[in-house]
Amino acid sequence: MKDEALKMRPVARLVRGVPASDGAGVKLTRVIGTHALSEVDPFLLLDEIRSDEGADYAAGFPDHPHRGFETVTYVLAGRMRHGDNHGNSGLLTPGSVQWMTAGRGIVHSEMPEQENGLMWGFQLWVNLPAKDKMIAPRYQDIAPERIPEASLEGSARVRVLAGAFAGLTGPVEGIVTEPLLLDLFVPEGARVVVPVPASHHAFAYCFEGRATIGAPAQEVPRGSAAVLGEGEAALIAGGTGGGRVLLAAARPLAEPVARYGPFVMNTADEIRQAIGDFQAGRF
Ligand code: FE
Repeated sequence: MKDEALKMRPVARLVRGVPASDGAGVKLTRVIGTHALSEVDPFLLLDEIRSDEGADYAAGFPDHPHRGFETVTYVLAGRMRHGDNHGNSGLLTPGSVQWMTAGRGIVHSEMPEQENGLMWGFQLWVNLPAKDKMIAPRYQDIAPERIPEASLEGSARVRVLAGAFAGLTGPVEGIVTEPLLLDLFVPEGARVVVPVPASHHAFAYCFEGRATIGAPAQEVPRGSAAVLGEGEAALIAGGTGGGRVLLAAARPLAEPVARYGPFVMNTADEIRQAIGDFQAGRF
């Protein structure tokens, strides 16, 4: 089927990110995981960090636990050092992505490796189904050059982080919710049609300029996310001056969510167990 014949997803909700602080006092914009938008199943959280003031980010995210879900870190500018209690460590550089499956638990730190200059990137939390919440932790650290890029019609550009689009397949593998994660630049006047399985939930976050998203079209300025409704494709067009958009889609879990800070389980009992296990050093 021609992409243009697919049923385009409308914008179900338009949500502006809100200022927030996390870690040891890092200033960020929270887009998902707020009162206005608690989740887009299976996406539990989306944060954007963007500042060229070291005081906004230098304190970083010292040792903290995770259990029951996956964290995705995508760096646009700056350098972030990570290390965990299992001996894993690495440096995330501009253009790189880390898909960390926390599973049964890790304790890690995520610290900027710079005290000034632009730090810009995202963290996305993706839930795990009940059957996988206690799997062994797994890292996929993807260097920038492993992320395929393509030019599209109208001088639009895409980087495929996960899933498949435009004949490219992203390097992130074996994720149970079958995610699609794209970094798109769409110039003013250009449009991109991205097939998204009808089974998936999807959202598009505009992080630079302006985009026009969905059918019927909605203007989405920088700092706002469009939660997409039902359909077979996402329509992303460039607004005034063009726009950059993070498009994310994944298969929803439709399971109960019990959430307490960095622990995301299915029941309150499992949360109590997670807290107990963490306090007893069993991560
Ligand atoms: Fe973390």
